[in-house]
Amino acid sequence: MSNEVRLQVKNVCKSFGITKAVQNVSFNINKGEVHALIGENGSGKSTLTNMLTGIYPIDSGTFILDGKEIHPKNQVEANNEGVSIIVQELGTLSGLTVAENIFLGHEDRFVKAGIKNTNAMNKEADALLKKYGFERIKAAHMIDEYNFEDRKLIEIVKATYFSPKIVVIDETTTALSQEGREELYKHMERIRKEGNTIIFISHDLPEILEKSDTITVLRDGVYIDTVKSKDMTEDDLKKLMVGREMTGK
Ligand code: ADP
Ligand code: MG
Repeated sequence: MSNEVRLQVKNVCKSFGITKAVQNVSFNINKGEVHALIGENGSGKSTLTNMLTGIYPIDSGTFILDGKEIHPKNQVEANNEGVSIIVQELGTLSGLTVAENIFLGHEDRFVKAGIKNTNAMNKEADALLKKYGFERIKAAHMIDEYNFEDRKLIEIVKATYFSPKIVVIDETTTALSQEGREELYKHMERIRKEGNTIIFISHDLPEILEKSDTITVLRDGVYIDTVKSKDMTEDDLKKLMVGREMTGK
């Protein structure tokens, strides 16, 4: 893990009507770290990362990636800046094949790589699926043939095959079996080793403590603190999340 800053989150705000989902949030995320984002339900984690990845427009504030302001208007633009996301909900599209889902919005990437037809695209996607250890998933099959867990695995391929600088993983482990989780952890480790950054959102505090290097806490859309995972216990994190001693009262 280096101390070089990858992403600066600066005074970022987002409201939905009268709900101030993200209020003037600022913090830094370093290169090559798993940076967890925690907070109770509704604390603004998904809203913040959805702005970073072009899903929601930002109200005010900036994201600065490797020293450069980015303003992605959609997920493809975010991908082209080097930011990808595995969204909290289902992130694949029904009615398309597995390969079409993996490469959606990136047709230019494979044209450049000399991949010009469906057969070639399927071959490329099958090779990727094999590399990830997901051989039983077939590129030419319709995505609808696969269950929620398999579709999450396909999203892992989609979000990480091009070695993005930042990958957001929003509550993905909740949807996965232990086996699926182990697959995800393997790919998180690979991304980190490549010097890239993961923003890891999860409700599972033991998992957060084990898998992250750094943790940022949000409460009611407000930034609370950024701490080192190794200095923290579950109780410390709970206190930061709820803002008072956990006395059970
Ligand atoms: P978290 O991911 O931490 O659980 P969210 O970012 O999803 O929290 O939500 C933060 C707040 O913003 C909540 O009050 C939620 O109801 C609201 N919110 C999130 N997305 C929307 C939306 N698309 N429309 C209206 N309100 C939203
Ligand atoms: Mg969320």
